[in-house]
Amino acid sequence: MIVVMQEGAAEPQVQRVIDRMVGLGFTVHRSTGVLHTVLGGVGPEEGADPDIFEVMDGVKECRRIASPYKLASRHFRPGGTVLDIHGVEIGGSRIVVMAGPCSVESRDQIEQAAEAVASQGARVLRAGAFKPRSSPYSFQGMGEEGLKLLREAADRRGLLVVSEVMDQTQIPLLASYSHILQVGARNMQNFNLLREIGLRRTPVLLKRGISATIEEWLLSAEYVLSGGNYDVMLCERGIRTFETATRNTMDISAIPVVKQLSHLPILADPSHGTGRRDKVLPMARAAVAAGADGLLVEVHPDPDQALSDGAQSLRPEQFAELMGQIRAIAPVLGRSI
Ligand code: PEP
Ligand code: MN
Repeated sequence: MIVVMQEGAAEPQVQRVIDRMVGLGFTVHRSTGVLHTVLGGVGPEEGADPDIFEVMDGVKECRRIASPYKLASRHFRPGGTVLDIHGVEIGGSRIVVMAGPCSVESRDQIEQAAEAVASQGARVLRAGAFKPRSSPYSFQGMGEEGLKLLREAADRRGLLVVSEVMDQTQIPLLASYSHILQVGARNMQNFNLLREIGLRRTPVLLKRGISATIEEWLLSAEYVLSGGNYDVMLCERGIRTFETATRNTMDISAIPVVKQLSHLPILADPSHGTGRRDKVLPMARAAVAAGADGLLVEVHPDPDQALSDGAQSLRPEQFAELMGQIRAIAPVLGRSI
């Protein structure tokens, strides 16, 4: 149930509506927009008659939300959401680029990677310290030591950090080093993890599951939002299809579809989306053209020596080329970097 208050509705009017919703068994999530306050009620399956609210003072309209996700739905914030993470806006007019190696491997490696991406205008340094590898024998990440190196390299250059959290026991550790918690594709439906993250205020980057539909993905976002953590961004990273020419099939159409269905910012990861560095640039261009609010790109100072995802990691000069191209495309879309 969504109740939209009239422009300039008085606070006591808003409060009376909230009280009524609570009285009927709804949990109320409030979104205070520039013009309208919107109250999202998550509640009894059978809902309530919208008329109950529409006749109340200060109410503009009330409607039932048919989609299974309520708070992730665009109805909740028709104007879209702009996250402000330590001054970096995500979902606004600027396209935010998050870049760095797949994994932190050494101080030298992460420092070089940070320099390469910061010098080209990336705002966020990405790298995993805990890696969800398909094989238990592959490099699993440097753990806390990696997080320390990552944060130091980022701080030196005024970058924020995004890094993956693999289970709920790691949340406090990750949140102490990383400004954004990445929930990886393999964990998109780890509901205990999502619930726990929902109880914190740390921003979340939620990747699309390898075989998740857009509805399932938005329902996963709903887990986080319903806990009260509204700082959620989505990231399309390719899905598994019958095609074998690329590591995954980058679902560019998910970007405009999500934009229509949801108010949440959406990023695109052309590195995991294609698995090949020669395909990263064209898919990055396509994602931005399709309306992505940002990119998540793997960049390594020496990809041939990378301990994970070397084949899809850009060399620094390729990343510079990518940034140049995105900078050129952005103004056509009314955006900038
Ligand atoms: C990553 O970003 O390195 C990663 C493991 O991503 P995904 O969860 O999309 O596979
Ligand atoms: Mn990777």
